[in-house]
Amino acid sequence: MNLPLVLTQFLDRAVTYYGEKTAVITRTASITYRDLNGRVQRLSHGLKSEGIQKGDKVAYLAPNSLEMLEGFYGVFQIGAVMVPLNTRLKPEDYLFILNHSEAKLLFVDDELYSLIKPIKDKLKTVSKLIVHSKSKECPEISYEDWLMRFPETAFCREAVNEDDLASLLYTSGTTGNPKGVMLTHRNNYLHAMSSMHALRVSDRDVYLHVLPMFHVNGWGSPFYYTASGATHICYKKTDPKSIFDACSAHGVTVMHMAPTVLNSLLQYNEENKPEVPKNVRVMIAGSAPPPSFVERVEQELGWEFIQVYGMTESSPFSTYSVIRPQLDHLSVKEQYNLKAKAGFGMIGCEVRVVNELGDEVPHDGISIGEVTVRSHGVMKGYWKNEQATMEAIRNGWLYTGDMGTVDEYGYIDIVDRKKDIIISGGENISSIEVEGVLYEHKDIVEAAVIAVPHEKWGETPHAFVVKRPSSVITEQEIIDFSRSHLAHFKAITGVTFVEELPKTASGKIQKVHLRNEYWETAGKSERFV
Ligand code: ATP
Ligand code: MG
Repeated sequence: MNLPLVLTQFLDRAVTYYGEKTAVITRTASITYRDLNGRVQRLSHGLKSEGIQKGDKVAYLAPNSLEMLEGFYGVFQIGAVMVPLNTRLKPEDYLFILNHSEAKLLFVDDELYSLIKPIKDKLKTVSKLIVHSKSKECPEISYEDWLMRFPETAFCREAVNEDDLASLLYTSGTTGNPKGVMLTHRNNYLHAMSSMHALRVSDRDVYLHVLPMFHVNGWGSPFYYTASGATHICYKKTDPKSIFDACSAHGVTVMHMAPTVLNSLLQYNEENKPEVPKNVRVMIAGSAPPPSFVERVEQELGWEFIQVYGMTESSPFSTYSVIRPQLDHLSVKEQYNLKAKAGFGMIGCEVRVVNELGDEVPHDGISIGEVTVRSHGVMKGYWKNEQATMEAIRNGWLYTGDMGTVDEYGYIDIVDRKKDIIISGGENISSIEVEGVLYEHKDIVEAAVIAVPHEKWGETPHAFVVKRPSSVITEQEIIDFSRSHLAHFKAITGVTFVEELPKTASGKIQKVHLRNEYWETAGKSERFV
C-alpha cells in the first residue's frame, strides 16, 4: 500500500535528516529535532494514559510556544484531533467551543488559565485540564511534571489514515459566530506541500511565529517548517520591538503576519529607526494590505513581500502573489500592484471568480464575482452543521463569500467580503479600496470603512479612524482627502475617531461589530443580522 499522507511524517523526516539541528527556540530554551521528538513521544504516551483514543478531540489554549508546537505532533501520532483555541475569546466562548467540539482534554497556558477558571465546572466532556505551569492561581496538574512521567524513547503510534480528521479549527468569527472546520491529514499535508513550494521554504529557513498557531494562517507553519527541517522561533509576545530583536538575534528569514501587525511594524520602523535585519528574505501577509504596504515593506525594510489568500475552510491558502517570470518586464509600480493582489492558484488549487449564474467572470480585472475554490485543502465540512456545509461546498467548489476580480494574468484581487461591500446608489464600493486610500494619509494609523444608512443613496461609506496620537486632523479633512483620491461616490461621508478598532485574535478588524453598533444607533438594525 502507498504511504498515507499523514502529518506525523513531517516530524519523522526532520528527526531522520535534521536530528541535531535546532528545531525550536523560545525565550528560555532551545531544543533539537531529536529532543523535540522525545517530548512528542512522551506526550503521546501521556495522552493515551489519560484515555485519549483515535478520533478524540484534544483542545489547546496557548500562545505560540514549544508546548503548543509539540502538541500538534503528540496529538496526531495517536490519531486524535487537535482543537486549537483562539486566545482572545471570552470564557463563555470557550464554554461553547469546548462543549461543541466535545473536547476530552484541555491544555492551557498558565497565563490564560483565568479565562477557563470561571467555566471549568460547566465543561461537559473535558475530563482533565493540564496547565503549562503550576502556580497558586492554577492548581491543576502541571504540564511539565505530567509530561516527564512518560517515556521518551518508545514510539507511541496509532494507525492513521490520510482521510482521518487531524484538526477541528474554529473560524475567526470576523463575520459572526465561529464555525468548526474539519480538516483531514490529507488536507493539511497537501496544503503544506503546496505552501512549501509557493513560499520557497527550505532547511535554511528560520521562521518567527508571529501569527498565532491556533489560527489557520499560522496553523500550517508547524507542518511545512518542520517537514523541511527549518528552525521555529516561538516568542509568546510579538510587539514590533520583539520582532526586530528576534530577527537580529536568531537570523530570522521568514515571517507571516496580519496587515495590522505589519502596519505597526512599519510604524515602529519609521519612528524608531532600528537597524533593519538583513537576513529576512520574505514577509508574508494575508487580508489584502494596500499596495502602499507592499512598497513600504520592499523599500523601507528591503524584504520581499508575498501576499497569500485563503480561509480556514481551505486549509487555508489557495493563491499567492509572487511575480511570475513572464511578468518581469512590468514596471516596479505595476509589480507592487500585482503583489498587493491575492495572486494566482497554488499547486493543487483551482480558483475561479464566478457570477450569480456560476459562470466565470471575464479576466479583465474589473468584473466582480464570488471567489470559488476547488483544491486538496478544502475541508471535509463544518462540524455538526450539514446545512452550512452544503451551502459552502457546491458541486465540489468552495464558495468563499469573498468577492473578487481576476486580471489578464490570472491574479485574483479580493474586492471585499460579500457582507462588507457598500451599495451606494446601486454602485458596489469596496470597503478595502477606500481603506487603502485612508492608509495613505500620514496621520491615520488604522481605518475601517463600513456601510452606513443614507436617505438618498441607500448606503454610503463611513470610516472609523485611529489617528496618530499627536495629530489634530479633523473629520472634514479626512473626507476631503478621500474625495481627492477616489471617485466621489466612493468617498467617505463621515468619520468616527476611535482609540482602537475591534479585532480578532489574528488582528483582523471586526467590521461586523462597528456596523451593528452604528446601524442599531441609527435605528436600522435590519441590514446585517
Ligand atoms: P468567519 O468565517 O468566522 O467570519 P473569517 O472568515 O475571518 O471569520 P478566517 O477563515 O480566519 O475566518 O479568514 C478567512 C477570510 O479572511 C477570507 O474569507 C477573506 O475574507 C479574508 N482573507 C484572507 N486572506 C485574504 C487576502 N489575501 N485578501 C483579502 N482577504 C483575505
Ligand atoms: Mg469566513
